[in-house]
Amino acid sequence: MNKTKILVVEDDKAIRNLITTTLETQNYHFQIAEKGLDAIMQAASMQPDIIILDLGLPDLDGVTVIKKIRSWSNMPIIVVSARSEDTDKIEALDAGADDYLTKPFSVNELLARLRVALRRVRFQGQDMENSIFVNGDLKIDYAAGCVFLAGKEIHLTPIEYKLLCLLSKNAGKVLTHNYILKEIWGNVLPSDTPSLRVFMATLRKKIEKNPAQPKYIQTHIGVGYRMLRLSEENEKSN
Ligand code: CA
Repeated sequence: MNKTKILVVEDDKAIRNLITTTLETQNYHFQIAEKGLDAIMQAASMQPDIIILDLGLPDLDGVTVIKKIRSWSNMPIIVVSARSEDTDKIEALDAGADDYLTKPFSVNELLARLRVALRRVRFQGQDMENSIFVNGDLKIDYAAGCVFLAGKEIHLTPIEYKLLCLLSKNAGKVLTHNYILKEIWGNVLPSDTPSLRVFMATLRKKIEKNPAQPKYIQTHIGVGYRMLRLSEENEKSN
């Protein structure tokens, strides 16, 4: 029996039905909210494991809902947005959303995103307590400032190391370019995005077996980057 509880916030009936039908096939428990205020109240009373949140709601906008919920909870929030709401999507991620789905999305895409979010929940507490981060072959010893790949120490520049730590401490979450620039360099200039890309490329060369097909750090074109938690199946096959 799947005990995962999901709060579905969507005012569009057709999309809501697609989501809830998909959740039913996996035996997820779910509740529905059609408005932002209901969503906030239900998030508090239900304490869901994940929230799937439409950005365009009739009363509050989705970003406001995220900010309210983030003031007391770190529960994963997956945003659902139309293509026309691209800037809202980035704003939603900066407000603390984990991930986003662009309409129209497939059932498989939705399920894959749910698995990523659940994996983040599973490791969350552990990552906070541990000074050592392990993900597949990658190991970071935060206290010693060392990084290992398959047991061998690798040497990173200070910026590459900061970048890797930021991504690993937020594993499972999509981090926007602006967020990363602010955290690493302390200021945000859109002109810095290309240099971020360069640092990411050199970091990937050091940690990815095949930098053209990265398994640790995902690129979200026009949005940002995310470190993926490798699943047990992946870890076994490596
Ligand atoms: Ca809507």
